[in-house]
Amino acid sequence: MARYTGPACKLCRREGKKLFLKGDRCYTNKCAVDRRSYAPGQHGQNRKKTSEYGLQLRAKQSARRFYGISEGQFHKYFLMAERKAGITGTNLLQICETRLDNVVYEAGYASSRAQARQFVNHAHFTVNGKKVDIPSYLLSAGDVVAVKEKSKSTDEFKSVAEANGSRPVPQWLEKNEDAMEVKVLRAPEREEIDTPVEEHLIVEFYSK
Ligand code: SF4
Repeated sequence: MARYTGPACKLCRREGKKLFLKGDRCYTNKCAVDRRSYAPGQHGQNRKKTSEYGLQLRAKQSARRFYGISEGQFHKYFLMAERKAGITGTNLLQICETRLDNVVYEAGYASSRAQARQFVNHAHFTVNGKKVDIPSYLLSAGDVVAVKEKSKSTDEFKSVAEANGSRPVPQWLEKNEDAMEVKVLRAPEREEIDTPVEEHLIVEFYSK
């Protein structure tokens, strides 16, 4: 499926919640969800009761859009999550969290997940010393993600580092400010994941 390239705010309005797709703007009064809290389109303001299937679909779409993951890849992650021991919904979110683009965002090396994906695509990062330019690359405990030496001095990274320097880094990551690198200590616990979604609805969606 082709990647969605339309307005990001429209996705939040469709899901009826903030998905934080546009970095700093999401925390200002310019946020489209705060200003127009109804779905986009001609019938967006019509009230209608959401079916059980509708709730499950919206949960799946919200999570997918939050992380910027295609339908096919998200389904693949669900199958991986099902095969792992533990709670499938939590496993699914853990897989999404440990993607390279998400870790780059969580570490404060990008203002949004979309920008993190672009930075990874442009080969600004290494994993354990080797260049990796695949945003969906899944990291494991012990992996070290570092900003490439050449990229550290660019204006782009300096301004991003300045803008996001105060953002707290989750406890499952260990950031080394000076070296501009972040280490994955372990998989995140469910309570450390702030994805605005009820993952059991996603499991129900795929289990039909
Ligand atoms: Fe737009 Fe961000 Fe608000 Fe979503 S949360 S509507 S991306 S400003």
